[in-house]
Parts: sequence; C-alpha cells; structure tokens
Amino acid sequence: MAHGFRASPVSKTAFRNPCRSADPLPSQSLGNRRSGRSTREKEAAVLPFHPCMHQQAHHRVARLHLPVAAKCNTRCGYCEREISSTATSVVAPGLSATLLSPSQALVKTREFLGRWGKSSVVGIAGPGEPLANGETLETLTLIRREYPAIALCVCTNGLNLPDHCGELQELGVRHLTVTINGFEPGVVARIQPTVSKDGRVYLGTRAAEVLIENQKAGLQAAVESGMVVKVNCVVVPEINGAHVVSTAQKVSDLGAHVLNLVPLIPRGLFKNLSKPDDRYMARLRCLCSRFIPVFRHCKQCRADAEGIPGKEGPG
Ligand code: SF4
Ligand code: SF4
Ligand code: SF4
Repeated sequence: MAHGFRASPVSKTAFRNPCRSADPLPSQSLGNRRSGRSTREKEAAVLPFHPCMHQQAHHRVARLHLPVAAKCNTRCGYCEREISSTATSVVAPGLSATLLSPSQALVKTREFLGRWGKSSVVGIAGPGEPLANGETLETLTLIRREYPAIALCVCTNGLNLPDHCGELQELGVRHLTVTINGFEPGVVARIQPTVSKDGRVYLGTRAAEVLIENQKAGLQAAVESGMVVKVNCVVVPEINGAHVVSTAQKVSDLGAHVLNLVPLIPRGLFKNLSKPDDRYMARLRCLCSRFIPVFRHCKQCRADAEGIPGKEGPG
C-alpha cells in the first residue's frame, strides 16, 4: 500500500555547517575517521518535509502526539514520567495530561486533522516507550485504516525496534526517531541502568549491551526498510558529553539520516546534574555536523503535544 510521503529536497542551506569559523571542541574527541558518506551527500539527499527532520518544516507543519503508551521497558536517569492534568505548562518528554485508549486516540486524530489539515503528522512519543505498549500498533492500525495517506511517526528507545520494524513498515510509518545516548556500555549503563526485554530484566553494563545491540539492529532494519530515521541523543555532559561525537559518527555509519542533540533537562535521578549551555550544545552540534545532518530546532515536546512545535495553541 502506498502511504503519503511528502518529500522535498533539503535546501543546500538547511543543514549548512555553522561552525566553519568556530572553534570546535578538542580535535582528539573527533578522531580522523570520517563517515563513508559525507554529510554534504546526505544534505543533498531527499528528506521529508517533516517537523522533526526538516528545519523549515519544523515551523510550518503541525504534529499531534497521541499519549497511548503508558509503560516503559527501561529507566532513563533523566526521565520523570508523569500523567497529570496539572502542570500542563511544563514542557518535557514523558509528560502528558492524560492517557488515551486507541479508540480515543482515533477520535483525537480526527479532530486534529480537521483543524490542521491532512498534511500534518501524527505520532506516538509516550509518555512511556511506544514499542513497549500494544496500544501503539493498535492505534496506528486504527488511524491507518481511516487515513491511508497521512504521515505517521513513532519515537522509540529502540529496544523493541527489531521486533516491530516490519509491522511499522506495513503500517506505512515512514518516519522514526530512535533515542541513542551512546555506544559504550559503561557510559550508557550510567544513563539507562535497567532494561526489560522478553520477560527478563537486565542490569548495569549488561542492560546497556542489550539496549545498544537492539538499537543498532533496529536502526539498520528501519533504514533498510526505507524509513527516514532521526537519532536523538540526550546530552548529559558529566556522563556522555565526551562520547557524543563518536555516537554521531556511528549512527551515521549505521545509516541514520538526521541527528538531534537534545540537552539534558535535569529531572528525575539526574535532577542535580547540569544542563549543558547553549555554547556547549552549539559546539557539539558543530562537530557532529561533520558526520551527519544535525537538526537544531527541537523543543523536547511533551507526549501530548499538539500543533506547530513551539507555537502550540490551546487544545
Ligand atoms: Fe513523530 Fe517523534 Fe517527531 Fe513526535 S517527536 S512528531 S512522534 S518523530
Ligand atoms: Fe522515560 Fe522514554 Fe527513557 Fe522510558 S525510554 S524511561 S519513557 S525517557
Ligand atoms: Fe519532535 Fe523535538 Fe520537533 Fe517536538 S520539537 S516535534 S520533540 S523534533
């Protein structure tokens, strides 16, 4: 089945490296190896006019997050999941005013598309891990039945991505975001020290190894199946700050199309860690853009966000 996939060539300037004259982070963190495919080639590739992937689309295309996924299969140190009708003005992933059932999500989708039009995108980004909840595929199936052409997307931590990539592809999910915080198990274990998979709980470095293995396999499967994949990497300077550039290089080698570096919002177990400042983030983005196009507009939306990112109106 052919599903709507609005592609538009990325403008030459959309991902232009802004740091040609800037002083990058120490060169030893970069190494000499370059990705096999240059970012210039990737910039010239066709990327979708999707608010999470294309700088210009971000200000023009509305997106709806359907909060249908309650459970999670890991525990990120920065996460403070909360379903609460108060504090709706707090903006952070993992927050939602409410949980919707798949049929309620379909009703919400109808209202949203009626208001914003069918060139908007409908995604599932929490408040837990979308691919750890059967409601995610159930919701996507209901929506796809009624709207064969709209753009559907999912954000995932990647742990269950190898198991569900085929189903997502069949449902016409063409845009995917995978959060990958690094490839060094010792580092990732400090961010995500617990994962549950197939009825087993893994801890510490083993948990990180299982997560990384599945993220790599899932990312490659998604790219091979034709999805456009953005990788989110949460930057926690004290933990993975020195590994972000090598992570960018690796995800580029694995075929990811766009990288989104998101600064830590100090919450949850990491509430006392520092948030990287704009200069730190700018320098990291600059270095990473040598390997992969870097998306620069993320507002780290709530799991029930609706509208143009950063310009949400009521309801
Ligand atoms: Fe889709 Fe994730 Fe972007 Fe939301 S944040 S619009 S679910 S890709
Ligand atoms: Fe929170 Fe998402 Fe991490 Fe789960 S994967 S703990 S929902 S941030
Ligand atoms: Fe996704 Fe970030 Fe855009 Fe929100 S601001 S829709 S989380 S890329």
